[in-house]
Amino acid sequence: MGRQTAPEGVTINDMTLAATCLVAAGLALFARDSSSLPALFPYPQRMTPLEDSPFAASQGTLVFDSSGSLGGQLLAERLRALVGEGVRLSGERADADRDQVIAFLPALPQHGVRYEGYRLTIGNRRIEVRYVDPAGALHAAQTLIQLLPPAPSNPRQRTSRVEIPAMEIADWPRFSWRGMHLDVSRHFFPVEDIKRYLDSLALHKMNVFHWHLTDDGGWRMQSDRYPKLTEVGAWRVDTGGQWPGGNWNYSELRFPGPNSGKKLYGGYYTKEQIRDIVKYAADRNITVVPEIEMPGHSLPALVAYPKLGCEGVEPYPEPGFNRTNNFCPGKDETLEFLEAILDETLDLFPSKFIHIGADEVWKGFWQKCPKCQERIRTEGLAVNNGHSPEENLQSWLVRRVESYLWRKGRRLVGWDEILEGGLAPGATVMSWRGIAGGIAAAKAGQDVVMSPTSHCYFDYSYETTPVRHVYSWDPVPADLSPEEAKHVLGGQANVWTEWIPTWERVETMIFPRMLATAEVLWTEKSALDWNSFESRLARYFPRLDAMGIAYHMPKPTIAAGAVLFDDVTRVEIDVPEGMPFLLRFTSDGSLPTGDSRLYDGPIEVRESSVLTFSYVNSQGKAGDPARIECKKYLPEKEVRGLAEGWSARLFAGRWSSVPAFEELSPSASGRALSVSFADPASSLESLTLPRENFALEFAGFFRVESPGVYTFSLGSDDGSVLWIAGAKLIDNDGLHGYLEKSASVALKPGYYPLRVGMFQAGGARSLSLNVEGPGLAKGQVKAWSRP
Ligand SMILES: [Zn+2]
Repeated sequence: MGRQTAPEGVTINDMTLAATCLVAAGLALFARDSSSLPALFPYPQRMTPLEDSPFAASQGTLVFDSSGSLGGQLLAERLRALVGEGVRLSGERADADRDQVIAFLPALPQHGVRYEGYRLTIGNRRIEVRYVDPAGALHAAQTLIQLLPPAPSNPRQRTSRVEIPAMEIADWPRFSWRGMHLDVSRHFFPVEDIKRYLDSLALHKMNVFHWHLTDDGGWRMQSDRYPKLTEVGAWRVDTGGQWPGGNWNYSELRFPGPNSGKKLYGGYYTKEQIRDIVKYAADRNITVVPEIEMPGHSLPALVAYPKLGCEGVEPYPEPGFNRTNNFCPGKDETLEFLEAILDETLDLFPSKFIHIGADEVWKGFWQKCPKCQERIRTEGLAVNNGHSPEENLQSWLVRRVESYLWRKGRRLVGWDEILEGGLAPGATVMSWRGIAGGIAAAKAGQDVVMSPTSHCYFDYSYETTPVRHVYSWDPVPADLSPEEAKHVLGGQANVWTEWIPTWERVETMIFPRMLATAEVLWTEKSALDWNSFESRLARYFPRLDAMGIAYHMPKPTIAAGAVLFDDVTRVEIDVPEGMPFLLRFTSDGSLPTGDSRLYDGPIEVRESSVLTFSYVNSQGKAGDPARIECKKYLPEKEVRGLAEGWSARLFAGRWSSVPAFEELSPSASGRALSVSFADPASSLESLTLPRENFALEFAGFFRVESPGVYTFSLGSDDGSVLWIAGAKLIDNDGLHGYLEKSASVALKPGYYPLRVGMFQAGGARSLSLNVEGPGLAKGQVKAWSRP
């Protein structure tokens, strides 16, 4: 199947010529000033103002809807909340032709309405919705809901009438798969949160909820045949820490069972709850695609039923990524288990697509397992086809599951690892490790859902994946022919929850990025416009506030984390045009609130102080802070006994941010001419670097000869920090891949103490520190210290 296909009997003639001209004129009219565009997300394909007075909804308004969708009901509920309980919902055909009616009517061929699409005509006398399927009627209702004010929190705030401007909208989706994923394994979220998620998806016309039900953090789906999956596998030891469920650490995952007396974290969904959620989603035109991970990412199942794992493998993970979380495909009882679990899954989820994960399977255990090796022999998988026998074993398992699902009328979806060892014939690939997997599958004539980490991973910070970057995504890669591109069903954003323990945090990570994804997946490419999006978004935040939805506010952009001065200095912050929040600040180190001082121009600073800036919304809620340490400081003119080089100290330990070195004892110390190193360097002059789990601290003086502004650049994988004269100049901290940050600071001639901290958790590691300034071309920072 490809992109939009029409149900039989519906003509997809684009639009009448007259209507097209009208629309073109309308777009031009709207385009003159994007601040007048209705704040709709996703933006409709075509919208034309009509020369008519607005439709005024009041107590006497009637909603006629016999579409079988929830659209009329949701719209009537919103109108009642706004103007009063008198708003009536009717399914009587005679009511459709009255005045003051919002009528949902089946589309005729001449309306040119597409599958999932609708045509909306708003006039003074009536509003007419034309649809070909219940999904279209529901989408039209969501558009009308977004055109109405948000529901007041208190019925006494009702007004007697609300207006909707006269216009015509013709709308349809670009892609048939507009998805949002949610990982409920790493952190568990109860049914009411899931329903809130579904409401948010439906409001923005998304139609797939990819429910990541099983993974190493916990098994969340009730099973009748294998009750220990939830009795044991849904409850892990709560390791404490700042979040419910503890700080995330794979090697600390333990599932001790119900009677251990330990404090446990977790939960699961009963079959009844799952059926309720599936129905709730279906009523909102959302298909729930369940994901049951196999053969990897299955630690809780293997703890509950150790026999399902390979021979000779310990039940608990070793440190690092190579976890003992794989099923053993060599054992017949594993295959029987997988099929039984799939049967229970199919019974709960009517979705055509069933996701089996299949990502990140470490095959080392299979190499050592006699059962797996026997399977490789009997199935002839040790062939020379460019893949290892164990990759072929995974492919064999995926093909087997794919044909099992096919026989039951379902289709397999898996992460792009299912391409390794050859793709199962009817499988759909979800491309996450970039877009190459998606391209390969589409070129092979198989369906693809795009979900690359570059644009679609909402567990990544807003710094790594900003809203504008998400909006710039085209799910169809440029190197696909139009014929191949038809295999791109659409895309989705993924919410992995290792570091997302609360529902507020989930919402903050998805809003407003999800609005960008929703629009990219719905609105035709030619109608996407960042300026329009940004302008609408600024006016959409109050609606999110009214709905009680938490969202991310940008962190103020600062030129540097530190300012050194001797008498007086001025601190200036660049506030982007159109910023919908107020910039507020404190000078005592506390976090800004709605009552903090408003930033309205450069701040004069005469004493050492820490300025903390945050954007604050209309509810008084503050976004992430940015700090500037203003420090009265004059450099030493001369420091005796120095030799060229940094003093360096190495620390062993596991961190997720640069540690407080003063509380630690080093495992080694030495000197280094430069602090820079690149993976896979194994030593830094006299210091031998471990592969992972270490931290480094460097100290030395930076000698300034010419006064002026110096720009330091600090890059690292994972995090790093640069202090100058004890003030944090560059904060590049946290777990991340290679990331470089710069900051500028005005310096006078003399010696400034510098300190660099960095830590390495796992994976690649590197560090670089450069400087440029008056008479100094960009290069590594030379330092002086006591030998
Ligand atoms: Zn095995």
